[in-house]
Amino acid sequence: MSRRSTLRHQPDSATATFSTRSNSLATTKNSIATKRVGNHSNDIVAYFHDEQVGNYHYGERHPMKPHRLTLTNHLVISYDLHKKMEIFQPRRATDEEIMSFHAPDYIDFLKKVTPENMNTFSKVFSRFNVGDDCPVFDGMFDFCKIYSGATIDAARKLTNGSADISINWSGGLHHAKRVEASGFCYVNDIVLGIFELLTHHPRVLYVDIDIHHGDGVQEAFYTTDRVMTVSFHKYNGDFFPGTGDIDEVGSGIGKHYSLNVPLKDGIDDESYIYLFKSVMEAVINSFRPSAIVLQCGADSLGCDRLGCFNLSIKAHGECVRFIKDFKLPLLVLGGGGYTIRNVARCWTYETSILVDHEVSNDLPYNEYIDFFQPDYKLHPHLSGKVENMNTKQYIRNLRIRVLEHLRFLNGAPSVQMQEIPPDMQGFLDMNEEEEAERMADSAKGKETKEGRRGREHDNEFYDNEQDVDDMEI
Ligand SMILES: [Zn+2]
Repeated sequence: MSRRSTLRHQPDSATATFSTRSNSLATTKNSIATKRVGNHSNDIVAYFHDEQVGNYHYGERHPMKPHRLTLTNHLVISYDLHKKMEIFQPRRATDEEIMSFHAPDYIDFLKKVTPENMNTFSKVFSRFNVGDDCPVFDGMFDFCKIYSGATIDAARKLTNGSADISINWSGGLHHAKRVEASGFCYVNDIVLGIFELLTHHPRVLYVDIDIHHGDGVQEAFYTTDRVMTVSFHKYNGDFFPGTGDIDEVGSGIGKHYSLNVPLKDGIDDESYIYLFKSVMEAVINSFRPSAIVLQCGADSLGCDRLGCFNLSIKAHGECVRFIKDFKLPLLVLGGGGYTIRNVARCWTYETSILVDHEVSNDLPYNEYIDFFQPDYKLHPHLSGKVENMNTKQYIRNLRIRVLEHLRFLNGAPSVQMQEIPPDMQGFLDMNEEEEAERMADSAKGKETKEGRRGREHDNEFYDNEQDVDDMEI
C-alpha cells in the first residue's frame, strides 16, 4: 500500500530554498509547517518515459517541441536520478481509454488524418479546431497515445499502491477538450489520469502552474465536487485561452470546486510562492483530497518563448516541493514550456526534488550538453526580463478574494467509495438544470473563447534564432 494515504502532522524540516524568503509576505508559515512533513521520506517514485516521444515534430516553426522530453530525460539520467526511481516504458493508451473522455467522431478523425490526406478532411478542421496551433503532423495520434498511456499508467501506479509519486513529463496537455484540440493539445491525458484516480479516490485535487489557464481540465470537472481544480495563470481576458478569471468557480454540485488565481505579467518568485503556498494550504485543508495531480507547465518560467512571468527554476520547483510534502499520492505531469533548454532544467530539478536527492548546479556531461551553453548550469538567471505588473496590494487582495471562495466549501464532501459510478462517462453527463446554470455562469467566458478561436498565443513571435528546433543535434 502507498504510504502517502493520509495527511500526517510532523514538523517541517525547513529545508526549502524559499521557506525564508516567502515568509516576508506569508502570514501562514506556522500553520503550514504543522501540516506538512519534511524530506527524506523514501517515497517510491515511478518515472514514465518513452524513448520515441521526443522524436515527433509539430513543424519546424511550431513552438511546441517534443524534443524537450529527450533533453529532460538525458539530464535526469546524467544526474543519476534514474537510480532513485522505478523506470517504466509506458504503454500506448487504447482508443477505448481515450474515448472515455473524448467524442468518438473526434478520435476517429485524429486516427485517420495525416499530412498526406488532410485536404480530404478540411471541412471538419474548424469543428475539431485543427490548424495553426494544433497542426496535423506525422504520427500525431501515436504521439497522443504515448503521452496519454503514460499518464494513465502513472495514475494506475498510484491507485494500485505500488508508487507514492508518479512522473510523466510528456503529459499535462491541459487545453484539449472533449470534441476539439486546443493550444497544442489533442488528447487531454490529465482528464484520463484523473478518471483512473477516481476509481479509487473519493476526492482528487488538480493543481496547474502552467502560465496558461488549465481550461480543459476545469471544463471536464466543472460540475462535480469530486475533483477540485486550481489554476495559477496569466489572465487579462485576452491571453490564451481567454478563460480563468477569479469568478469561474464551477457550477451545480461542482460550484466552488474550481478555483482560479489570475495573475499579471512579470510575477516574481516571492509573490508567486506566497500566493501558491497560502492558497494551496487552505485548499488542501478544506477539500481534503486523497490524491493530487500537479501540472508543472514550465512556460511560467522567466525567459520562456511564449510566457511573460519571471519565475526561477527554484521557485517553480518550490511549488512542487510544497505539494509533495503533503504526503498524498501524487501524479506529476509536464505541460507547456517553450524555451526547451530551461524546460529540461526545470523538470530535471523537479525530478530531483521528488526523489529527495540534491543535485549540483553544474550540469553533468551528456549528449545534449551544448544546449545549455554558455553557463552549463542547472539554475540560470531567468528573472527581470518582464516588468512585474503584480503590485503587493494586488497580490494581497487576490489572496483574500481567492480564499473567500474556499469559505463556501463546507468541509470535504462525504463521497462514499460505493457511490463511484462504474462508468466514468457519468462525470461528464450533466442534467438540464446544471447545464442551464453552467451556460449562464460561463456566458462571458464563452464569448471570449469564441472570439479567440484561431488567435495566436500572446507573445508568440517568430522573431529570432529560436524559430527553428534550437540546435538540434
Ligand atoms: Zn502553457
